[in-house]
Amino acid sequence: MNLVLMGPPGAGKGTQGEILSKRLGIDTISTGVMLRTAIKEQTEVGKLAEGYINEGKLVPDDVIVKIVKERLAKPDCANGFILDGFPRTTAQAEALTKSGVRIDKVLSLEVDDEKIVERLSSRRECSKCGAPYNVISNKPAQEGKCDKCGGELIQRADDTPETIKNRLNVYHEQTEPIKAYYDKLGLLVTAKGEEKLEDTTANVAKALGLEV
Ligand code: ADP
Ligand code: ZN
Repeated sequence: MNLVLMGPPGAGKGTQGEILSKRLGIDTISTGVMLRTAIKEQTEVGKLAEGYINEGKLVPDDVIVKIVKERLAKPDCANGFILDGFPRTTAQAEALTKSGVRIDKVLSLEVDDEKIVERLSSRRECSKCGAPYNVISNKPAQEGKCDKCGGELIQRADDTPETIKNRLNVYHEQTEPIKAYYDKLGLLVTAKGEEKLEDTTANVAKALGLEV
């Protein structure tokens, strides 16, 4: 299955992506994780992306399209993949279509704006492997430590109230129109993001026609 996950920041794309990845045995490709790794390593792309990300703006389409195309060309993607955080603009969606990569389904996780702000302030992430956590709804076994790799859990630099507002605006203005684009292609399904992780997981499974 070649799947696209979309939804506002903090909707749970990372968490659900990981659950689906295990269940379906395919990799999640997260542009957010790729960009944050590039920033940590201060690569050319990282240096370019840092300013945009910290202001809650999108990284330019040509930059991100190039990275994703390179990633999707790797052999492991032939078995399927989950795209998290891409495409994020209509231009990106068109570029993906044009590249000839087949997409089977686009799942939109729906969460109201009011919920997003509180979720993002309690969100944490592993500084080593990027695994997502939440100090309220998705706690690690040991406080402050990643269950998978023992890495330190940190708050993201772009999870500040000011930046969150920007990212929500960007989502509504630039990313949401993609839903219509994929709906026209008959690929769009939606799932409601709930308070409880397991409830969201059940909604996602239903939307994708998997056993709950
Ligand atoms: P979230 O979904 O919580 O906003 P992500 O980790 O997906 O977080 O993205 C973080 C930031 O990385 C975005 O605000 C944006 O600046 C940049 N980014 C990620 N994916 C893309 C993309 N497809 N196009 C442009 N910018 C992107
Ligand atoms: Zn980790």
